Amino acid sequence: MTTLADPVPGGRPEDLRRVAGITADLAARGVRGIVLAYVDTAGVCRVKTVPTARLEAAVSWGVGMSPVFDTFLADDSIVTTDVLGSPDGDLRLYPDLDQLVALAGQPGWAWAPVDRITQEGESHPGCARTFLRRTVAGAARRHGLAFRAAIEVEWAVGLDSAPPGEFVRAVTGPAYGAIRQVELSDYTADLLAAFDAQGVPVDQLHPEYAAGQFEVSTGALDPVAAADRSVLVRQTIRAVAQRHGLRVSFSPAVSAEGVGNGGHLHLSCWRDGANLHAGGERRHGMTAEAESFAAGILARLPALTAVTAPSPASYLRLRPSRWAGVFTAWGRETREAALRVITGSAGRREQEANLEVKPVDLAANPYLALGCVIAAGLDGIGAALPLPEEITGDPARYGPDEAAALGVRRLPQSLTGAVEEFRADRVLRDALGPVLADAVTAVRLGEAAAVEDLDDARVAAAYRWVY
Ligand code: GLU
Ligand code: MG
Repeated sequence: MTTLADPVPGGRPEDLRRVAGITADLAARGVRGIVLAYVDTAGVCRVKTVPTARLEAAVSWGVGMSPVFDTFLADDSIVTTDVLGSPDGDLRLYPDLDQLVALAGQPGWAWAPVDRITQEGESHPGCARTFLRRTVAGAARRHGLAFRAAIEVEWAVGLDSAPPGEFVRAVTGPAYGAIRQVELSDYTADLLAAFDAQGVPVDQLHPEYAAGQFEVSTGALDPVAAADRSVLVRQTIRAVAQRHGLRVSFSPAVSAEGVGNGGHLHLSCWRDGANLHAGGERRHGMTAEAESFAAGILARLPALTAVTAPSPASYLRLRPSRWAGVFTAWGRETREAALRVITGSAGRREQEANLEVKPVDLAANPYLALGCVIAAGLDGIGAALPLPEEITGDPARYGPDEAAALGVRRLPQSLTGAVEEFRADRVLRDALGPVLADAVTAVRLGEAAAVEDLDDARVAAAYRWVY
């Protein structure tokens, strides 16, 4: 369980008590430095590092970094909002010791996610991890709810020897094929070993559909830890790949055509140790609250897209009949509906039942994505929102009248379309607060403007290697 307490100047007492022991242990294992990681509004993971001996200082007083990164674009240009994007000011990065881990794929390094607070010791309203911590704590306080979450990671494996900027797939053979598994057998075995050494339990790792594509799914955690893990998993996948002469891309669309890389988000609500998505009176064993939670997410999906699919490249992926879930519809185990209700197998429903949100990719800041999806679901519970009729099959087959009758809408087809929906969505804006909401709007509009004159192939190339 992630600590939900804010960092404090001087250090959280529990951290101060254990940091010397952790530092000695890391040093004994040959760890020279700690990577302090967070994800910016654009979805890029930014880092600072400190020598291992400075961990205690970092835990006590944080490490400096400018707030300007909150309005960085993926190409490192900068946009502004009323309060962000200026060269003034500084923030302190505080590592979360509960999530600190020695990196098996990068010998000599450990890794920890950070929260960012001001030099005055106040929480920074642009900190996405703080936003998610607050959202989770608020759900516990107001609704007595806890969550279990996981983010699937898909990536394309290319040759590091490819010409700069280009993607040359590192495997041949059909989708999900044994050929691919054999060809990348050394890499994937080292990857499993690295996850194991880092305490990341892997559910599955398999060759996927698109050229060079693989997928890993890992066990569910509380939402903050699940977001942390998705960042750690990508750092690990990249580091191990590099040691094998491989280069990986998590971009939603490595190329402009075909199936992209998703980052499907799995989420379940729990109260007093019971899963609200199993054993209930409603459809597929859902409780009334689980249905309303799903309905809340479904109702806000067009606006959520600005958070869950934040890159111009996201809209190359978000196309019908590619398993990316581009219609506001839900169904049991329906892989073309944006919301897939997973019941789990008979005998395992209590543990396994959850919701899968599909129009999410790995350009999304996982803290913002989880926090906003949870906020949408909680709004559904608060309003006792009814869940519409479920669908089966691919909603792409519906004509306009049938789609309208079923309340099935195509999700925004461009980043600017998503921003329009997001700007009109009071629930999401209120949940994020004005600083983060304005950062999301400004960064998305900045990304859209940056690619205005580019064709699809150039958009894919522009974002291929940044996430
Ligand atoms: N690659 C698909 C996507 O872009 C997902 C495939 C799957 O269902 O795992 O979301
Ligand atoms: Mg997949």
